[in-house]
Amino acid sequence: MNIAASSTDNHQYVIAKFGGTSVANFEAMNNSANIVLSNPNVRVVVLSASAGITNLLIELAEGCDADKRNELLKKVKDIQYAIIDNLQTADVIREEINRLLDNIAHLADSAALATSDALTDEMVSHGELMSTLLFVEVLRQRNANSQWFDVRKVMRTNDSFGRAEPELAQLKALSEQQLMPRLTESVVITQGFIGRDEKGRTTTLGRGGSDYTAALLAEVLNLSRVDIWTDVPGIYTTDPRVVPSAQRIDEIAFDEAAEMATFGAKILHPATLLPAVRAGIPVFVGSSKAPEAGGTIVCDKTTNPPQFRALALRRKQTLLTLHSLKMLHARGFLAEIFTILLRHNISVDLITTSEVSVALTLDTTGSTGTNGSLLTNALMTELSALCRVEVEEDLALVAIIGNELSQVNGLGRQIFGALESFNIRMISYGASSHNICLLVPGNDAEEIVRTLHSNLFE
Ligand code: ASP
Ligand code: MG
Repeated sequence: MNIAASSTDNHQYVIAKFGGTSVANFEAMNNSANIVLSNPNVRVVVLSASAGITNLLIELAEGCDADKRNELLKKVKDIQYAIIDNLQTADVIREEINRLLDNIAHLADSAALATSDALTDEMVSHGELMSTLLFVEVLRQRNANSQWFDVRKVMRTNDSFGRAEPELAQLKALSEQQLMPRLTESVVITQGFIGRDEKGRTTTLGRGGSDYTAALLAEVLNLSRVDIWTDVPGIYTTDPRVVPSAQRIDEIAFDEAAEMATFGAKILHPATLLPAVRAGIPVFVGSSKAPEAGGTIVCDKTTNPPQFRALALRRKQTLLTLHSLKMLHARGFLAEIFTILLRHNISVDLITTSEVSVALTLDTTGSTGTNGSLLTNALMTELSALCRVEVEEDLALVAIIGNELSQVNGLGRQIFGALESFNIRMISYGASSHNICLLVPGNDAEEIVRTLHSNLFE
């Protein structure tokens, strides 16, 4: 379905999304207001909840005793009141926020009796409802004309609470009816992340879903650009905390950004930008604290993409090596292994094989099981029945991300020459022309990233 093609031409209009840190407090909201007011083409503003609020609301929705409830409610109230205290028209807005805080308290009481995914979504939606009401007030105080809009009027979704998917055709029709005409009147301030199902129940698009909201609205309204304002001035060649000389990337293709995210770069999740990119709408990423610093444009295709684009580092990797003489001239051994891994819900990242062994890497970030490992006893028992199993932990994955990497001569020397003094445990090269992955000892990982960066990027 080509959603964008039939829309009215809003070619100069921009949608701006501000994340939690950009609406965290009064000062942050004012910085964000500066950005909105400095570009008359910004016609729709999508906001996250003030930083910290969503987590507090989720805790309340999980059900807790009265003391804990009061403590959490007070934290929510303190964050929002700190903003209200700076507003001239404090009385009116305080009343509105109080009404929402009352709702939150009622929902928290219900959650203490019985939790549900629907209740959680209803609860967390209050974060975005509050931040948008406050932001309209901040703009009003600066004599700017804006209007508050409940995004649930247009963001129709299915009823998968917590990770709802938008119904695109309805979103488009409703947005054209209810949102489009407002764009010429004044700036529309609306909520990211939240939606409504067919029965009128509040849903959410999944954590961090505000970027997705912005990209979806840009697509259905056929806008010219999505500006994502966050706390970092764009996407970098690698994590600047590891490599201070990392450079900002001015323009990057969507595929490259997606590749970076896959390998652990802490950038916004590109999948959420897909609606904009598939509609040919560029996405800008910048810092609301330092808009003058510029940012990165994510678009469908870039001219002259560089051979080396970025380095990503993923820690906490485990290497599993499986040996079996049964593999010699046999069939179905890999199928058996992967069937076992599937049964234990384990996803494999890299794989190399030789005649009688196969090596696999697993990402153990945030995992459970014995020793914080994914390798539960049940899994190890099943694998050991089939073959000899070796486990190496505390490894890291360094991914070199680029373009047409499999078509270049001398690449091996360039990379491995630079890494002469390091032990490289495993290499994955050739499956994708966009990346080369190295599995290295966790302790060497940062030094390897620095060495590669200075050799390939500086
Ligand atoms: N407030 C929501 C969250 O924290 C959505 C967002 O920030 O994008 O996940
Ligand atoms: Mg966020």
